[in-house]
Amino acid sequence: MTTRASTIAANLQRVRERIARAAARAGGRAEEITLVAVSKTFPAEAVRAAYEAGLRHFGENRVQEFEAKQAALADLAATWHFIGRLQSNKARRAAHLFGRVDSVDSLSLAQKLDAAAAAEPKRLPVLIEVHLGAEETKGGTAEADLPALAKGVVALPHLELLGLMAIPPYSDDLARVRPYFRKLRELRDTLSSRLEWPLPVLSMGMSHDFEVAIEEGATEIRIGTALFGERP
Ligand SMILES: *Cc1c(COP(=O)(O)O)cnc(C)c1O
Repeated sequence: MTTRASTIAANLQRVRERIARAAARAGGRAEEITLVAVSKTFPAEAVRAAYEAGLRHFGENRVQEFEAKQAALADLAATWHFIGRLQSNKARRAAHLFGRVDSVDSLSLAQKLDAAAAAEPKRLPVLIEVHLGAEETKGGTAEADLPALAKGVVALPHLELLGLMAIPPYSDDLARVRPYFRKLRELRDTLSSRLEWPLPVLSMGMSHDFEVAIEEGATEIRIGTALFGERP
């Protein structure tokens, strides 16, 4: 094993232990939580090492970057998640390259993805990204627009709405992050009953706060740094 591969395997072991403890505190099981390895900025070899260590879900936030790596990874039976801001003109490529888009934040983007999925043809699973914090810089739909957007996405025949994703404002103080995770879970529960549509996926929690997210009901966490190290 290369140094990189053994570091990733050791990091994964530690992350899995932390997931298991957090899941136990939440009264759930670690196996119910999907670990999405966020491989953005890391080369294809790092992705392959993570795959060999047992990971099957990967998150990338740039279409072009993934397109460049993808040829070297085509033999892997992994699910590739798009987790970044998606420009409309890249919807076509994204629908082709990715198995899921976790960051749908407008109806116009959803419509473009639906048309692109129809052309593939395939049915593309998606999450809606919700903007929970006050900062202007982050993606996601405003909470007030979520019900209408979800209704619109559910009606698109080539998309399959599975749940919600969010990135709360960064804080070292985890007590300040917890209410955002709780909020996303409540939004999911309300929306699911309003739409009468199951929304099983709650994608929330990153390297510094995933344990809190799991305690608040995350079914999916997106981990970069804790697996691959600091991004260059
Ligand atoms: C980069 C990124 C992550 C991973 O962040 P880490 O702090 O490195 O774990 C998770 N989600 C999204 C949307 C990201 O862009």
